Amino acid sequence: MADGSWYDADIDHVIISEAQIREKTAELAKQVSADYAHVGDGLLLVCVLKGAVMFMADFARALGRNGPPAELDFMAISSYGQGTTSSGVVRILKDLDRDIAGRHVVVVEDIVDSGLTLSWLLRYLESRSAASVEVVALFRKPDAVKVPVGVKYVGFDIPTEFVVGYGLDFGERYRELPYVGVLKPEVYARS
Ligand code: 5GP
Repeated sequence: MADGSWYDADIDHVIISEAQIREKTAELAKQVSADYAHVGDGLLLVCVLKGAVMFMADFARALGRNGPPAELDFMAISSYGQGTTSSGVVRILKDLDRDIAGRHVVVVEDIVDSGLTLSWLLRYLESRSAASVEVVALFRKPDAVKVPVGVKYVGFDIPTEFVVGYGLDFGERYRELPYVGVLKPEVYARS
């Protein structure tokens, strides 16, 4: 593809297009802004690096168009696991900058797969006395869930396949693709 990404040749098929992501992000921001209109300046968006970075940037800007004021904070965690699965054993690499006691927290998540990472994170945030904690996740794999986690706002339910793009990586690559897709089998074979 002459004007495409360097990575396009590695993608077997697109699951969710850039336009679909844009439209859904605006929809989710509208719902969150209606639900949090009453919290004044108490809203705190928490992004878990690195996968959710694209969604956080776009979601926060969509919310900023008509939503309540929000602060942005970031955590980095490592979820020990083999290859493309997570184990639920989590280590904090970067904690939140601010105290979240009394704040209305919305976790901005890229994807809920087994739910192990998110269920750990929700327990962690609740133990720090937030006034409320909800989750907005752009993607969810309903057939992969191992621990049920309450995700109030979900963008797309997708099949149980490993996907890349829009923040999601394979070996730290493909995050900058503007869409989400599945890699060709030969990409795994050569890595
Ligand atoms: P879970 O603990 O729910 O199994 O996985 C959570 C994290 O694993 C996500 O936040 C994401 O960073 C990563 N993850 C889960 N599924 C995928 C996927 O299909 N592709 C990529 N690149 N990362 C994924």
